[in-house]
Amino acid sequence: MSQFKLNFTDLKRQYKNIEKEIEKAVKEVLESSAFINGPQVSKLEEEVAKYCDSKFGIGVASGTDALLLPLMAIDIQPGDEVITTPFTFIATAEVIALLKAKPVFVDIDETTYNIDVKKIEEKITDRTKAIIPVHLFGQMSDMDEIMDLAKKHDLTVIEDACQAIGAEYKNKKACSIGDFSALSFFPSKNLGGYGDGGMVITNNEEYAKKIKMLRQHGSSIKYEHSELGINGRLDTLQAAILIVKLKHLNTWIDNRIRLAERYTKHLKDHVTTPVIRDDNKAVYNQYTIRTEKRDDLIKHLSENGIPTAIHYQKPLHLQECFKYLGLKENDLPISEKVSNDVFSLPMFPEMKEEEQDMVINTILDFFK
Ligand SMILES: *Cc1c(COP(=O)(O)O)cnc(C)c1O
Repeated sequence: MSQFKLNFTDLKRQYKNIEKEIEKAVKEVLESSAFINGPQVSKLEEEVAKYCDSKFGIGVASGTDALLLPLMAIDIQPGDEVITTPFTFIATAEVIALLKAKPVFVDIDETTYNIDVKKIEEKITDRTKAIIPVHLFGQMSDMDEIMDLAKKHDLTVIEDACQAIGAEYKNKKACSIGDFSALSFFPSKNLGGYGDGGMVITNNEEYAKKIKMLRQHGSSIKYEHSELGINGRLDTLQAAILIVKLKHLNTWIDNRIRLAERYTKHLKDHVTTPVIRDDNKAVYNQYTIRTEKRDDLIKHLSENGIPTAIHYQKPLHLQECFKYLGLKENDLPISEKVSNDVFSLPMFPEMKEEEQDMVINTILDFFK
């Protein structure tokens, strides 16, 4: 029907722009054969920690492991409770439940889609051990309120910054506020590798040591295992690739912000565009809008060669795997309402404005 062809994100275009640098970095690893714990891993850890205005980075195998390992480090036990949002990717709550702790879902704020800090305290019990706020789509949660509550009730805060590297809240970088933070280097994240990867960020040296040990089978001396851990390492090839890509991250973020502002300017009279708090710098891992006509608009875009995605179709408390928690429809109404009418538009740093104009015009055409 339409000749126009656009990808939702275009990783190949980005690769082509940095092909030479990447190939050099990959070749160095191949020549050295230090595939596990090679020098690029600690180099990346230092650089990413510094980028996040934080002291320690511990490279891990995925963003999911970057959430799991801090929970293991604080010795979460079966029956402990961890507060988080139901409007996120499954990994955020999955790691809690895998340790047999209980995910306690708090509904979201309807403007930012992040956890509603006004509703957290009523869910705190004597079994509550931690809060995992998610900086959804690249906008940070209300960290001051969360840190105050954590202090008052002696809770650990783990920032799920998997979508938010480079984001800021009151001039503080994502990952620099909580006790721990989790980053994902999944290919489509703002800093994505060519495979899985992640990093735990912390300012606490003891915690950093512990995570390092846990990611390597609970071992700091070879074949001595003081605790049970996992094989959760970041591999050297991914680290080498990410060192190259980190140098470009700020430019890519600037591009995302420019494109997001363009989308908002042209679409705000027809759909609900992202609301970014005044004291926040959002990095737009997704550009997500809301409209009651979602399904028809998605169809119209698709017929015109424009792909979209829904983040997220079903809030976590209604997922089959969390049925045992006993939550029902209408228990967390804002998350449910938002998941019924959100969807995300194509957005990547290399997107051309002419391409974006096609998306914008196709949407305006739909509302005519
Ligand atoms: C991507 C993502 C994760 C998990 O990261 P993986 O690297 O895929 O394991 C966790 N939380 C959020 C909010 C994410 O977007």
